[in-house]
Amino acid sequence: MNKQEIRKVILKSGKDQSLRRFHPWVFSGAIKKTEGNPVDGDLVQVFDNKGEFLALGHYQIGSIAIRVFSFSDIVPDREYWTGKIRSAYNYREALGIAGSASTNIYRLVYAEGDAMPGLIADFYGGTLVLQFHSVGMYLIRDVLTDAFSEVLGDSLKAVYDKSKFTLPPFKGAPSENKWLMGEKGDISGLEYDNKFMISVEGGQKTGFFIDQRENRKLVGAMAKDRKVLNMFGYSGGFSVYALRHGADLVHTVDSSASAIEMAGQNMALNFPDTVKHEAIVADAFDYLDREGGNYDMVILDPPAFAKRRNALHQALQGYKRLNAKALRSIQKGGILFTFSCSQVVSRENFRKSVFVAAANAGRTVRIIRQLSQPADHPVNIYHPEGEYLKGLVLYVE
Ligand code: SAH
Repeated sequence: MNKQEIRKVILKSGKDQSLRRFHPWVFSGAIKKTEGNPVDGDLVQVFDNKGEFLALGHYQIGSIAIRVFSFSDIVPDREYWTGKIRSAYNYREALGIAGSASTNIYRLVYAEGDAMPGLIADFYGGTLVLQFHSVGMYLIRDVLTDAFSEVLGDSLKAVYDKSKFTLPPFKGAPSENKWLMGEKGDISGLEYDNKFMISVEGGQKTGFFIDQRENRKLVGAMAKDRKVLNMFGYSGGFSVYALRHGADLVHTVDSSASAIEMAGQNMALNFPDTVKHEAIVADAFDYLDREGGNYDMVILDPPAFAKRRNALHQALQGYKRLNAKALRSIQKGGILFTFSCSQVVSRENFRKSVFVAAANAGRTVRIIRQLSQPADHPVNIYHPEGEYLKGLVLYVE
């Protein structure tokens, strides 16, 4: 472990309550004073106003000033991080996600959900992609890489750091994304026996939207004989499942040409001879206006419309408009899968937007299922902010 000295932070009176309920963030306004002038990334011990130890975390200048990873006063050395990563792995293994023969694409560490705020680790058939969201985690990347190697053993071939755009500016910030271990090869993996090429370096997020695995499976279960529009389709995840399970035709639409190219490749990888798939570069709103009436299954999985709370109203308008277009045009007896991955949009607000969209479209709509994120994106019960993915499956008459 790199030898960081531990600084101290003392909270204002009464500001210890959320830590006592195991919420892992300390906001800057809760701090009474600091000792040892902590800077971005420093390890800090947090004490209440009377000097009682509360937590250990990483300091960072900003609204969230401390991200807590331990409520006991331990020494966060390599062995400690190995233990935490092993616990994240064991949880996924117990649930049949890690170590499965049919799936080797999964999220191994989901930040607060695994009590490691600031760290995302996605596993793609031997390649681990790390995305650091806090300076403190970034500074211990070598320790973490060793810990991942120890837990994953021979199954780990390469580790890529993709944090250039996820960290705030600080002294020593990465100027590029880079390989921390092993080297780039063809990166591919299996999800319920479906094959996917993963564009780790050039793709969005860490390369793939792992969080839709269970929802893709459900699309498969309902797709037989349907004409499917996979809108915001990225690299074709939902499309592969739909075709695998007997869809009549599948159209993948995305505004990004590189995403559409990947979708074509993934389709060809799974179904070399299919003539039932087409990948189309288009804007969602335009395409639904033009072609929405051709389908009896539509998937809407847009990017986060609101990244910040002050964009909430606009985001809700966006969901209403998009869903109204899809609901107006989908064929009678059609099934709409509609999602929101904006953390600031609550499940209730999303459902309300879709309700208004249905009313505006004047269709009779039943809710078949309500969807969320899978078990490898766990929500820490003390940190409800970790819940972000919401979905509705609707039957449209
Ligand atoms: N459903 C995908 C993930 C979607 S991510 C999966 O399962 O893998 C959101 C996608 O929406 C991105 O690929 C992005 O390129 C695309 N996108 C963003 N704005 C768009 C627009 N106006 N019209 C169509 N696609 C858009």
